[in-house]
Amino acid sequence: MNQFKSLRGMVDVLPEQTSLWQAIEGVAREHFSRAGIKEIRTPILEATDLFARGIGEATDVVGKEMYTFSDRGDRSCTLRPEGTASVVRAAIENGLLTQGGQRLWYEGPMFRYERPQAGRQRQFHQLGIEFLGLKEPMNDAEVISIAWHLLNDLGLKDLELEINSLGTESDRDAFRTRFVSWLESRRSELDPDSQQRLKTNPLRILDSKDKKTKVILESAPKLSELISAESRHRFLHVQQSLEDLGIPFQVNEQLVRGLDYYDHTAFEITNSQLGAQSTVCGGGRYDRLVQELGGPATPAIGWAIGLERLILLMTQQANQNPLGKSAQLSKLKKPDLYIVNQGVDAKRKALVIAQKLRDAGLRVELDSSTASFGKQFKRADRSGADYAFVIGDEEVKTGQAPLKYLRDSSTKNKEVSTEKLLHLDDLESLISTIHKEQNIH
Ligand code: ATP
Ligand code: MG
Repeated sequence: MNQFKSLRGMVDVLPEQTSLWQAIEGVAREHFSRAGIKEIRTPILEATDLFARGIGEATDVVGKEMYTFSDRGDRSCTLRPEGTASVVRAAIENGLLTQGGQRLWYEGPMFRYERPQAGRQRQFHQLGIEFLGLKEPMNDAEVISIAWHLLNDLGLKDLELEINSLGTESDRDAFRTRFVSWLESRRSELDPDSQQRLKTNPLRILDSKDKKTKVILESAPKLSELISAESRHRFLHVQQSLEDLGIPFQVNEQLVRGLDYYDHTAFEITNSQLGAQSTVCGGGRYDRLVQELGGPATPAIGWAIGLERLILLMTQQANQNPLGKSAQLSKLKKPDLYIVNQGVDAKRKALVIAQKLRDAGLRVELDSSTASFGKQFKRADRSGADYAFVIGDEEVKTGQAPLKYLRDSSTKNKEVSTEKLLHLDDLESLISTIHKEQNIH
């Protein structure tokens, strides 16, 4: 029979990688909790209209990338391509917006039908925050600062923060008219993608990666020239707050972001080591979205980190610097103790002892094979555990078994004994030996 394979662009996260995922999630949770940001979990499946209306029909995400299907009740459903629209829908539906400013975070799988490559999948994961009902420029700086400090605390190096102001909708309308008429006369020189965008979503041309188009854009009218005084003032305030926070940034006037709902502040955190998929975190202010989705007028700002890209970068940087924080976080948690055991009575005893030690908080691996002591010791060594507790039927009879130190005894502190005979019914002394000697190492 043919073996099943995961769908293209859908990737398994294997046990050796999940410890890094968990470490990242742990650091993120800590940052969120310190900043008073609470978790929200929304369904992965939503009505298609939510995204069509929220993200915008003209965007690549809605136009080409959504996983959309009819369910058995003939409703058009979509696997969420991003988190913001769902969070806003949930906040409106559950009356959260009547309870003052909301600081929320989420994490989970997102789905986009894209061409898979390094850092680009069809199912990928985002970790994001959304501040709803918070309109001040200092909120923009706070939101950016949380992403910046989180990524730095994960040990990442060479990050770049780029920011831009997209102005208001009417600023962009005015700019679009001028920009399109300027580009129309140069239409034939643009790359095909940008020619197409001239009709559907002209501002995205600013984001073009095409070399020739980029050169043309250098002399094009600038959005910053048409931005209202209010928005410009706001942008300066955000920049000043970032300076106060000591966060380095660059203004990038070409930064427009792929979703339609942004106003004023837009930002990205990138690392050039990631090549074409260089954006680890992207976000911005979306003051019109809540109303667009049927809620009360509510200013908002947020960001999302792509976890696969983050992990790619952490892994690369951990390899370059094995002593760095990224490398520490990538390490698998090793068991404290491996129980080597052989014989019917010994196996019965070992099962119970393993459970009791786990209850007491130790990480314990229990050998369940009938392999020889020698083979079991090899496995104990490979497990990374510092200690093995060795139980045979003889040990059950005498009620005493050896706790062996498995690591190189020459590097070991003299106070640590290489072998210690312990009572099988006195697990307290086993636990305290391991704890005590862990402190010595
Ligand atoms: P890109 O320009 O790389 O396509 P985007 O603008 O579509 O990114 P957003 O919608 O802002 O991305 O999503 C936020 C983050 O989610 C991105 O910065 C990236 O890290 C991650 N991301 C987006 N799409 C994918 C994908 N298909 N696979 C893996 N990560 C992704
Ligand atoms: Mg994209």
